[in-house]
Amino acid sequence: MRKRFEISVEDIEPQMDEVLKTQGIPSDKSPPEKVKSLFQESKDIFLKYSEPVGIISDISVFEFETVYRGEGLNEKETPLDEILNKADNLVLFALTIGERVSEKIRELFKTNDFALGCMLDSVASAGTDKGGDVLEENFFNLLSKKGKVNLQKCILRFSPGYCGWHMSGQKKLFEFLNPEDIGINLTDGFLMIPLKSISGVIVFGDKEIFNFDDNYPFCSECTTHECKDRIRKLFRDLRPEKEKGGR
Ligand code: SF4
Repeated sequence: MRKRFEISVEDIEPQMDEVLKTQGIPSDKSPPEKVKSLFQESKDIFLKYSEPVGIISDISVFEFETVYRGEGLNEKETPLDEILNKADNLVLFALTIGERVSEKIRELFKTNDFALGCMLDSVASAGTDKGGDVLEENFFNLLSKKGKVNLQKCILRFSPGYCGWHMSGQKKLFEFLNPEDIGINLTDGFLMIPLKSISGVIVFGDKEIFNFDDNYPFCSECTTHECKDRIRKLFRDLRPEKEKGGR
């Protein structure tokens, strides 16, 4: 299966607290009015100029091992090494919000409007990341229609450049997925163009396989430890209160 998704920009609209968190502003603090208005202005530009589109494509564990090996530069042990052989299904994915938002960011920096340029950059990154969530949901829904989903199953995505998967892994990933079909190209330095793009693998399987510790040698350099939040979310009980025995 290979599937392209035209995604509604409203579905990837980032919230202010999500964006400010990436700038180090905690969600329990109310930001100054100036910051709120910069966020609003950035979000309006984002909604006007984003053109989100994504693609997913089935890949077997065997084939993915070749993709994951990449140029042989991954860390010795990684979370994906542990998870892969226990996964039920994998898809490669890529998503972009297009070039027009990046053009706007460049224009703002050229005209020395750094405050708005920085905020738009953060909004666009958060929106692109949300696009990844939408692709995960779409994949999950496809599996659900095939009757593969139950309360023990979930999905998690991984990308080159993170968690021990070397950035150069983009090369093999592009050879297998061909995200050029949705307008994403790879530079010799493994950067995706448009810059506001993401790619990687979405893994589907039992929740337990994703319950890894953030104590790999490279984790000491990780500034976010966001795997902890992502894993915590997977283990949240999503059943309605009534089914959980609540009121
Ligand atoms: S701590 Fe950071 S680098 Fe380590 S697994 Fe978690 S997200 Fe990845």
